[in-house]
Amino acid sequence: MSDARPTHDALMLLKNSVDGVKLNESHLKIIRAVMCAPGTRADLRNRSGLAASTITTEVRNLIRRYNVLEERPPGRRIHLTATNGVAVGLGVGVHRTIVVARQVHDVERRDETVDTPIADGQHWLRDTTGAVRRLVAAAGGGRAGIATIGMAVPWAVNPRDGRVSGSPPPWSCDGLDTGLTERLTPAHGKIKVLVGNDALLTANAEQLVHRSENMLFLQVSGHVLGGTLVGDRLLQGHLGLAGQLGHLPVDPHGEACWCGRHGCLEGFVKSSALMRDAIGWCDAEQLPRPRSLGDLTDRAEEGDAVCLGVLRRAAARIGQALAMACLVGAPELIVIGGEAARGLELARDWCAREMTRGEWTAKTKVVYSTASDAPANGALLLGLLGT
Ligand SMILES: [Zn+2]
Repeated sequence: MSDARPTHDALMLLKNSVDGVKLNESHLKIIRAVMCAPGTRADLRNRSGLAASTITTEVRNLIRRYNVLEERPPGRRIHLTATNGVAVGLGVGVHRTIVVARQVHDVERRDETVDTPIADGQHWLRDTTGAVRRLVAAAGGGRAGIATIGMAVPWAVNPRDGRVSGSPPPWSCDGLDTGLTERLTPAHGKIKVLVGNDALLTANAEQLVHRSENMLFLQVSGHVLGGTLVGDRLLQGHLGLAGQLGHLPVDPHGEACWCGRHGCLEGFVKSSALMRDAIGWCDAEQLPRPRSLGDLTDRAEEGDAVCLGVLRRAAARIGQALAMACLVGAPELIVIGGEAARGLELARDWCAREMTRGEWTAKTKVVYSTASDAPANGALLLGLLGT
């Protein structure tokens, strides 16, 4: 955390204004990229999509003329100078929500988990608003207001209006963003809550970690979705429906899926499918049933052949689907995340075996991300990036 006294208002910076002076679009792109995380000039070029010469010139202006950025140590990473304003991210799940918050100029995050299902409507709004208020007060020492809020939800979102898009799954729930705005406005002023799909937003968070230019992210949890990033471009697709990797067909004779097709990947590898498979095998073998996906994973880690077998079959299905997905975008890196990622990593060879069958995917790097707050962090970044 910086010791410097806050000098700039984060919300005004995001409105492209510093001390009453209007900045240009390149300045704003650079400021947003640094707000996401400090970085070298090369990092900022990757994240902003600006030319190297523009980065060199405008970073110098933002340091010397506007005192918005600083270099620590000199010649290395670019940081935001101290600002007043907190960025908030919500990773909304069907049963629980993770809220993260940090000062816009600081990478140190605070988090809180809300164990209220979204189906509880008003209770969810009350509990989540309480968590946001506590974290903002803690992050800002009572002085800083909310600069941005982003929300990651487990359904497709139309990027034009933030509403549920496509064929909504049964757990989808519209209006969480406007409900939050109404509750937070009296104390914090009117803040627009930006909404995006959790898998797409997690790709943003993972790109910062892995510094990869061309990346595919696959989330395996209660549902199965993916996000593609090329440079600074997150591919959202028509109506925000890009990245439906869970609906790649992996068995033409498989069960009917809610999407209208048969044998979709999601039906085999989502959390409930893994549990169903494990319970079926444990019953047949007269073994105790796993109590949760975490329990299933723990048992596989300890060498339980039945639980490991469940994860291996799922990993092979995922490998088949990823091999198909890579034919389109040829990513240099695939990140597998979501609540099943820890278990799938135990069976990583089974996924890799399917990937190496094809010429195009034999050299694609696959890594596993077990950070449970990644969707919330992706949502925080959505607020800062403003798209
Ligand atoms: Zn489907």
